[in-house]
Formats: sequence, structure tokens, C-alpha cells
Amino acid sequence: GMGGRMEDCIFCKIIRGDIPVARVYEDDLVIAIEDIAPVAPLHLLIMPKKHIANSLDLQPEDDALIGHIFRVAATIAREKGVAADGFRIVNNNNAGAGQSVFHVHFHFLAGRHLTWPPG
Ligand code: 5GP
Ligand code: ZN
Repeated sequence: GMGGRMEDCIFCKIIRGDIPVARVYEDDLVIAIEDIAPVAPLHLLIMPKKHIANSLDLQPEDDALIGHIFRVAATIAREKGVAADGFRIVNNNNAGAGQSVFHVHFHFLAGRHLTWPPG
């Protein structure tokens, strides 16, 4: 469901370390992990450590955080060697757009040709 409580949020559990997951990237503000059901050869999830349900709940104080996530994505793209070939950042908001985990996250997709429009 909408999973309002941080205590029950699967991504908060991962961030807290209650569920052990390899961290592709971590800093004070964000982590990046591999998606458990990848739809591309490189499919990461980049998310703030702060629990925010989705982009509809962003506040002015989160502006730098979201900017930071995009710069982290660019850093990961260069580190993984996919920057030149291309990568995609996707943020699904609410069930009609495919959001299934209500802790805001950005899919990082790379490693194959990414068609447009995405469907
Ligand atoms: P959404 O559908 O909300 O945009 O994206 C949620 C993503 O989280 C999905 O692609 C799904 O495969 C992934 N996911 C769900 N549960 C877990 C988990 O426990 N670990 C990891 N690594 N990914 C998960
Ligand atoms: Zn959460």
C-alpha cells in the first residue's frame, strides 16, 4: 500500500541496515543499490536516506537533495563506464505510473539501447 510509516518502509529498512544489501554508492544523503528485478543490464535505485513517499511530498528544503541525486547519477554513470553510451533516470509517482515502493527513488538504467517513448 502507500506505506506511510518509515518503520515499515522496505527502503528505510535497507538504509538502516535491517536488510543487508550491497551499496553501489553511499554518502551522507543517499544510497544506490541494485534493483532486485533489473530491466536493464545496469539497473540501480538511487534514493535519499530521508523518507519521502514520492515527488509529490518534496519540500523546498529537499531541492538540494534532489539535485545531489542527479549529480550522483552522473558520477555513477562515469564510474560504470556507461556515460557515453547513455543512461536513463526514471522516477515513478503513484501506482498509475508504476510506483510500488513509496520511498522516493530514481531508477538508473543503462547497458542496453533504451527506447523512447518508454511506454
Ligand atoms: P517503483 O516500481 O516503485 O518505481 O520501483 C521499485 C523498485 O524497487 C522495483 O523496480 C523493484 O524491483 C525494486 N525493489 C522492490 N523491493 C526491493 C528490495 O527489497 N530490494 C531491492 N534491491 N529492490 C527492490
Ligand atoms: Zn522509507
